[in-house]
Amino acid sequence: MPVFINLKNELKNEDFIERDFSVPFDSLDLPEEYSSKNRDVDVHMYIFKEKDGYLISLSIKSDVQLECDRCLEPFNMDLSGTSNIFLSKKKLSGGELHEDDLIARYLEDEEHFNVSELLREEILIQTPMKALCSDNCQGICPVCGNNRNENPCDCEKKQKREESPFAKLQVLLEKKK
Ligand SMILES: [Zn+2]
Ligand SMILES: [Zn+2]
Repeated sequence: MPVFINLKNELKNEDFIERDFSVPFDSLDLPEEYSSKNRDVDVHMYIFKEKDGYLISLSIKSDVQLECDRCLEPFNMDLSGTSNIFLSKKKLSGGELHEDDLIARYLEDEEHFNVSELLREEILIQTPMKALCSDNCQGICPVCGNNRNENPCDCEKKQKREESPFAKLQVLLEKKK
């Protein structure tokens, strides 16, 4: 069930509101390969009323389980962080940025602001296309197929040695003997 906020009502007599809640990770309709160790995404948000829309400061606490692009092992990535988003009541003409380089989104229905959809997109944006379990992940050896984080091998070094011109010279010299 998506979570909705009626912004028009909630901010009728307020300049801003603060909300704390949790949304089940599985309710966010994320791609199938997305899973989380924590059942819920914890959300803390401030919503400020502005002339043409609402300014949102969205903090989430969540993590996602991904497969490393290099070594193919599953690992956990922390997705906790804060982002600021401007919800525009006016249709946006192409440019996606509001003042101060804020990400702007068109708010279709003030009375049914879909928070789940915003969370879903935030999580997708925060997840890198190329996910690495660590910056210095050694990946899988292209020669022997071994996970080099667990068992370093020197296949590539060996291969380079065999390919170097110096190695060929060495072979010639050996023959001469
Ligand atoms: Zn890795
Ligand atoms: Zn190897």
